[in-house]
Amino acid sequence: MRDFLKELGLSGVNSGVCAKGWVERPGGDELTSYSPVDAEPIGKILQANEEDYARVMDVATETFDTWRMVPAPRRGEIVRQMGEELRKYKRPLGQLISWEMGKVLSEGEGEVQEAIDIADFAVGLSRQLYGLSMHSERPQHRMYEQWHPLGPIGIITAFNFPVAVWAWNAMIAAVCGDTMVWKPSSKTPLCAIAVQHLCNRVMKANDCEGVFNLVVGRGSSVGELLINDGRVPLISATGSCHMGRRIGEAVAKRLSRALLELGGNNAIIVEPDANMDVALPGVAFGAVGTAGQRCTSTRRLFLHKSIAEEFTNRLVKAYESIPAGDPLEKDTLLGPLIDQGAVDDMMDALKQVRAEGGEILTGGKRMERKGFFVEPTIVKARPDMKIVQEETFAPILYVFEYENLDEAIAMQNGVRQGLSSSIFTDSFMGAEKFLSASGSDCGIANVNIGTSGAEIGGAFGGEKETGGGREAGSDSWKLYMRRQTCTLNWSPELPLAQGVKFDLD
Ligand code: NAD
Repeated sequence: MRDFLKELGLSGVNSGVCAKGWVERPGGDELTSYSPVDAEPIGKILQANEEDYARVMDVATETFDTWRMVPAPRRGEIVRQMGEELRKYKRPLGQLISWEMGKVLSEGEGEVQEAIDIADFAVGLSRQLYGLSMHSERPQHRMYEQWHPLGPIGIITAFNFPVAVWAWNAMIAAVCGDTMVWKPSSKTPLCAIAVQHLCNRVMKANDCEGVFNLVVGRGSSVGELLINDGRVPLISATGSCHMGRRIGEAVAKRLSRALLELGGNNAIIVEPDANMDVALPGVAFGAVGTAGQRCTSTRRLFLHKSIAEEFTNRLVKAYESIPAGDPLEKDTLLGPLIDQGAVDDMMDALKQVRAEGGEILTGGKRMERKGFFVEPTIVKARPDMKIVQEETFAPILYVFEYENLDEAIAMQNGVRQGLSSSIFTDSFMGAEKFLSASGSDCGIANVNIGTSGAEIGGAFGGEKETGGGREAGSDSWKLYMRRQTCTLNWSPELPLAQGVKFDLD
């Protein structure tokens, strides 16, 4: 067994259900987690059944009654300790992320760092959950807004950020006074179990277990119980647009809140005045990093026709020398796709590329080695091809030519998703046009930086079919709380609003 599994408290068979301590023998099916690096099993997980889910939700609901009354700065102090615990285990947790999900170690550790960063952010936030005060139109009245904890919330996460996305939600929700039930992806359950072990240590030491709870199970069973549970005022869900549509529908039906972080179809525009030495690595990292399995991965590249040939040739050359292999090895830049299904999806997409007349300039095949490795692929494409409208979760980059910036922006916006976008240019006017109200329609718009790798300080999320949710920094915390508008009358009279007279004499 690899040392990092032992260090993180994982064994051959693990409970996937935790609510104030691990449920010893959850009643659901046994799940095996495989490493995409060699397709070998890493560990087994006992999943939740309906009864286990009920127990977890009961704990989250009961614990909310006490957690919401803990002063927010005290909640922040406990989250600070969570950040410290993550710091202590950054290396082994980063290694586990790499082994179970397949991203290279620097990205695995980088993901843990994001969790640490959001914990730090949340600690400061715990003293800044500010409400506004307003001037009342009535004499001797005071009006203000205050923010209260929301309740036991549901967090559903995707396989590609098995730790960071939970942390973006959980650290903020915890300082806001919410308890939570986390349903992680069944493709990366061990990362979630390892994180839950770290949570348990901190929460036990502070005598407040039951705030962070875990339930591993299928989306179609345990996931459905969670999204349809009337006790859960907020479902924060990260995953495909397909999943988001189902969750949005279920949550809307019971008139609750959904924070949806869904698929992207992100693009980079390279203007003729761009610094090519900045643009080239920006595009390559965006498209090949995490083997194209980031929601913010670059999937479409718009090149001005005057630079298109040279830029494409340099990119093809760079692609052909990208070191692929074991993501735990220092020099590896390209790890595997998550599983056989992902390889099949990529190959199906490339079949469609060929059928629609696209030209594969490099890549296009599965690599001949154990695990789910594929060649990073560049396709010369046309905007009218149907496949370029889809998010294929793999390293396929579609390259287009354009004549002027307005045309490039229109093509970039001409897809159903709206997550991340970038322009590379040294022109102030070009950059401002891209960022203006008639520019990029995405939730994230960057200049001289690629589409992937958002910082936690900003609100993260996208428009259109990406779901409209915002999480992590800025004022995203407001989604995890309920707003209350309070009016206090300290006059001896009852002046009514809008000058209404209600005379009972
Ligand atoms: P997925 O949609 O297959 O699964 C995501 C999660 O939803 C899993 O935990 C799954 O079990 C759960 N789920 C599925 N159906 C459910 C249901 N009916 N009820 C409750 N839960 C259900 O996604 P994936 O393959 O794990 O991840 C890749 C996708 O996630 C890509 O589309 C990617 O763009 C997206 N993603 C988006 C963001 C973002 O912030 N916008 C971040 C990461 C990933």
